Amino acid sequence: MAKKVGICRICTLTKALSKEHIPPRNAYNSEDVILSKPDLQSFDPFVNWKKRIIQGGYSEFVICESCNNQTGTWYGREYGTFASSCVSTANESNLKKTVPIVIPKLMPLRVYKQALTTICASAKPDFSRRLDLVVGKNPNDWGVIKPKEAKDLSLISKTLPDIQKFILDKTANKPAFSVRLFTYLVAEESRGRMSGYSKQGSKSTGKLETIAEFARWPVGWVLVFDGEPKPPLCEVSGWSNYEYDETATISLNIPCYSIKSAVPLDFGRLS
Ligand SMILES: [Zn+2]
Repeated sequence: MAKKVGICRICTLTKALSKEHIPPRNAYNSEDVILSKPDLQSFDPFVNWKKRIIQGGYSEFVICESCNNQTGTWYGREYGTFASSCVSTANESNLKKTVPIVIPKLMPLRVYKQALTTICASAKPDFSRRLDLVVGKNPNDWGVIKPKEAKDLSLISKTLPDIQKFILDKTANKPAFSVRLFTYLVAEESRGRMSGYSKQGSKSTGKLETIAEFARWPVGWVLVFDGEPKPPLCEVSGWSNYEYDETATISLNIPCYSIKSAVPLDFGRLS
């Protein structure tokens, strides 16, 4: 398998990175995927965005082989179970609806930790996504915040090492760091979005939120560092309190959205 040397986004060591699927291939990440990217050359990058079709699922050189193998072995299979439980409801007939899902047997801590792994692997740790520095028009009054506020992502740099440690400690639960994890269904097959770490806010109230988002049909994840995400989402923060081997029946009311652009949490007009 092809390799290159770089900083692993999980253990933060400089090592040979291998090209790995994010999320794991068993979570429906082996088919072609369309990733959205803003067209920054255009008049309004929030309206015009480029589609990038990635064949064979999304993969990148971002984590080392050992982190990939460990997290894949510990959490990957259960994540696949969760993803497959969402498949039959993640479709356009449920768009903008909140749908009930019951999963009779799931090990929630493992899914939670794979979701964190996927978010950390997909988000650039140097916060270098250009989107962070762009402000666009938006119909819902919220959007990525510009200048000073957007650059202050110190909360993320402070919390990230604890998240990484938590991921690499197989049985660790009940994390001491305070983040909230939310999920939603992606309506269109082959759609995905990697928003990276970003800060958003309301132009009218000035309220800010610091988040990281990753979506790949059939599910999307939003990690909230502070603030309250505006679109309704399904919170699964409590999954971090389960034991590694603990199985539970999970009932969720989960919203189903269409990924409309590269802007974090942009699901188009919600009403
Ligand atoms: Zn690593």
